[in-house]
Amino acid sequence: GAGFLGSHLCERLISEGQRVYCVDNLQTGLAENLRDLKRESRFAFIKHDIRDPLPQTLKVDRIYNLACPASPLHYQADPVHTLMTCVAGTRNLLEYAVHAKAAFVQASTSEVYGDPHQHPQTETYWGNVNPVGPRACYDEGKRAAEALCFDYLRLGRVDVRVARIFNTYGPRMRADDGRIVSNFVTQALTGKPLTVYGTGRQTRSFCYVSDLIRGLVLLMDLNKNPACPINLGNPREFTVLQLVKLVRTLTESRSVIAFQPLPADDPQRRQPDIHRAKEMLGWAPRVPLSQGLPPTVAWFSESLKAAKAIARPVAVANISQPVTI
Ligand code: UDP
Repeated sequence: GAGFLGSHLCERLISEGQRVYCVDNLQTGLAENLRDLKRESRFAFIKHDIRDPLPQTLKVDRIYNLACPASPLHYQADPVHTLMTCVAGTRNLLEYAVHAKAAFVQASTSEVYGDPHQHPQTETYWGNVNPVGPRACYDEGKRAAEALCFDYLRLGRVDVRVARIFNTYGPRMRADDGRIVSNFVTQALTGKPLTVYGTGRQTRSFCYVSDLIRGLVLLMDLNKNPACPINLGNPREFTVLQLVKLVRTLTESRSVIAFQPLPADDPQRRQPDIHRAKEMLGWAPRVPLSQGLPPTVAWFSESLKAAKAIARPVAVANISQPVTI
């Protein structure tokens, strides 16, 4: 709940008038993300690692499981912890849901498709994951977590729903998470070379955080259990080089491009097929990259300034106000 997506989700739920218990081990989540929430009487923070069972003392009717480092840099930093968060952690929360009779939304990932042979990726595609590579702790962890979720559903133990989340960006991403948006924006703002891995022709499809959170809440609120995973992502596909260009223009950066080796098992193409989300949830993204990047750049710029990490004064073109969710 203290991470990038989790903190936005907590804010959304509090704004709806709900009571929220936010659980986080603060491994990659930040207490700072909860600064405003902590003033709310309906909000409580619990520092806990879900690899250990939670004491079953809280009355809850809905559980969102977003626990796990999500950037390759962070999830590979402690791979065993990552895998156990996905498997033991998800099991612990599912057992909690059995006890509390709570509905459950599992944050899964486009990484379950690995380096896909099918494009765009539909939910019926089984994926192409290297089970012994450096990304496996996350990819296979999330796949095992999905298997657990669907077992609990088939056994009639938990009303569990699974979202497969594609690359999401926006305010509160960590500047040090090593991901493409965080890296390019902070590099451009600090005048450092923009690190393009491989040829830069690989693709990703970027979803703005407000769209993603709306999708998760719709999935939880759906009356009938969909009984199948649902992709949540923005289907507009960009190459890495296209993103470099956009970020350079937006930040008026003159940073050079530094080509670096492609990380092992880096997926070459990624684009969600979102027909299922449209039909079952009535969901489609509303914020194109051209609208979502300016508030993201503004947010990174503010946090860099606050950290006094900025190397030179920065001109940020066409920055609108950060989006309130
Ligand atoms: N990437 C890059 N430069 C960076 C960070 C990432 O070229 O500084 C590439 C990376 O190789 C991948 C894509 O951007 O092809 C997305 O990487 P990210 O780590 O953001 O997320 P992923 O989708 O791989 O989990």
